[in-house]
Amino acid sequence: MMHIKDKVPEKIGRITELAYNLWWSWTPEARGLFRRLDYPLWRKTLHNPVQMLQEISPARLEEAAHDSTFIRQYNKVMLLFDETMKNRNTWFHQTYPELGDKTIAYFSFEFGLHSSLPIYSGGLGILSGDHAKEASDLGLPFIGVGFMYPQGYFRQRIPSHGWQEAVYHQLDITQAPVLPVLDGNGHEMRISVNLGGRPVHARIWHVRVGRNPLYLLDTDVDENEPWDRELSARLYAGDSETRIRQEIMLGIGGVRALRALGINPSAWHMNEGHSAFLTLECIREHVAAGKTFDEALQIVRKRSVFTTHTPVPAGHDAFGFHMVEQYFNGFWDELGISREHFLSLGGHEEEWGMAFNMTVLALKLSGQSNGVSKLHGDVSRKMWNEVWPDKVVDDVPITSITNGVHIPTWIAGEMHNVFDKYISPVWMDDHDNPTIWQRLAEVPDDEFWEVHLSLKRKLMSYLRERVRRRWVNGSNDPTQVLTSGTLLDPEALTIGFARRFATYKRATLIFRDLERLQRILLDIHRPVQIVFAGKAHPADEPGKSLIQHIYNLAKHNQLGGRIAFIEDYDMHMARYLTQGVDVWLNNPRRPREASGTSGMKAAINGIPNLSILDGWWVEGYNGANGWAIGDEREFENHEAQDGFDANFIYQVLEEEIVPLYYDRDRDGTPRGWVEIMRESIRSNAPMFGTRRMIKEYTNELYVKAILSGETEPA
Ligand SMILES: *Cc1c(COP(=O)(O)O)cnc(C)c1O
Repeated sequence: MMHIKDKVPEKIGRITELAYNLWWSWTPEARGLFRRLDYPLWRKTLHNPVQMLQEISPARLEEAAHDSTFIRQYNKVMLLFDETMKNRNTWFHQTYPELGDKTIAYFSFEFGLHSSLPIYSGGLGILSGDHAKEASDLGLPFIGVGFMYPQGYFRQRIPSHGWQEAVYHQLDITQAPVLPVLDGNGHEMRISVNLGGRPVHARIWHVRVGRNPLYLLDTDVDENEPWDRELSARLYAGDSETRIRQEIMLGIGGVRALRALGINPSAWHMNEGHSAFLTLECIREHVAAGKTFDEALQIVRKRSVFTTHTPVPAGHDAFGFHMVEQYFNGFWDELGISREHFLSLGGHEEEWGMAFNMTVLALKLSGQSNGVSKLHGDVSRKMWNEVWPDKVVDDVPITSITNGVHIPTWIAGEMHNVFDKYISPVWMDDHDNPTIWQRLAEVPDDEFWEVHLSLKRKLMSYLRERVRRRWVNGSNDPTQVLTSGTLLDPEALTIGFARRFATYKRATLIFRDLERLQRILLDIHRPVQIVFAGKAHPADEPGKSLIQHIYNLAKHNQLGGRIAFIEDYDMHMARYLTQGVDVWLNNPRRPREASGTSGMKAAINGIPNLSILDGWWVEGYNGANGWAIGDEREFENHEAQDGFDANFIYQVLEEEIVPLYYDRDRDGTPRGWVEIMRESIRSNAPMFGTRRMIKEYTNELYVKAILSGETEPA
């Protein structure tokens, strides 16, 4: 295949640079440029400009280079791109002019930036991706560190028996927006880490996320043994031994990668405990430079920030002491401490005995820790009180910063245009300011409704197109065609439920009283339908059985084609769903949902939430912007809780949601409904964007970490 650079005409030569900076993905003008270049190919590649530039015909490129409209648009986008990249007047520059030369390093196991880079599994990854994008928008001196997983997370297939199958595709790296980091001699840069007695090497991939880099480690290099090459092949697909090896590579290898790149961060942010070994590597560096262990620990603590993401105990990695010994034998000597002291840094009583817990390590070695919603902060302080046995719960030093979503990524283009028209053409610059959103009152009801309907139509045609493609490309299974959304009614009230199938999220709750649900769905005057999507972790048998349960119901003609299960949920689908359904349902078992973010994506697009008062929704719900399920009660008995919550859902649907949705005026607009849509955006958009979130991380955590380091020698 011809190299992209050789085939793109000079006149539009920088379009390659644009394709390799994910900035395009959240910039409507840049998206428009690629769409215009070759619309069918744009759709075929699922909006992947790198792949598109590879596959596009040279003739089409020549044509574009001679099309004055295209050139005008190209010039405009490149101007905006250059201005954005060199802007020295961002929020961060204005607020912290003296900190421009500092670096914040952000470590995460997964990054959900775009579906063309499948290195995420769910909420945690999407959050990291959104975090990185907003850090660029606000001008933070930010660097991400993670893994390149050449086989990514699995692709989900649901055969007619409904039992999820995991399929791994080898990513064609030349079609992903990543480039290898080269050393001074033009060779791929390498770092290495000792893993259980032998060095394991990694190359470093560079991803451009707007103004900032993200570096991804990849052990699939010639120098490694076959087993080590596989280490970073897949996300969350190994046993506990693979996991500790990956976490050592991320934590310790990540620090070494930054050093190899000549980067000396002033703040280190661990997004989840997966990367907590980085603190040990930083201590080791200080000890090697002559500090005592205690001195080194104090320095590292001040500069470290840790975010915990789940109240579910199994979500916190813990490794048997024997395994930790196997990998860190000798490392404690380099730290100048004993084996016992080393093990005590992560020591925690698990259900299966004492072990080395990554959250405990991260909490002990970070000066600042936070949960991801107010409620999750409360829960985390209780959960981890033991790390500070001499403190009462309220004094446990874990604060909270509620999650957000990157608005430019998740807002529908059509909704964006409405805001341009009625709020301000530059609403995006000020979107965390609640006052600008008051102007939504000026959007006429019927216009609001029309925009929503167009997004709903888009969702429906997207779903049908997926089924069609699957059908054509080999699935010979007619049930699949039936269950995947072809029977959906574009006019019916459509509820969306899409997320990972972790059992605490209770995906099947709404089926508890099947007859009652049937009456709701099959009402001939006011039909209701539900679209489900989501993957269960490959080792989560109960999660897979929930999928099977829903899939079987979707097949059942007694539910009248009103249930659909769409396979292989990802960011691309998430955009269509959170922009195109009518109601977003979330019914986790409180307080397990630390925050949740998919509901925020829906809320900013005017899709009201129907949700348990858990995670972010406790803060978001105001009585007029959606619906709460239950009160804030938590039952001891799960059965009782499930019964109570399910009953509540039916009742709200029957008495409020369905009647309001179908209450239309003469031109067909549901005015009461539109009021809730409007209020959903007005109240949530300024609060639950990463704009507000990153400002809080910066003001409350990063700046403190940076300044505390000022007094110390580097
Ligand atoms: C937003 C998003 C999530 C997170 O969903 P929650 O409901 O917050 O769990 C998971 N997966 C994908 C693909 C997403 O886009």
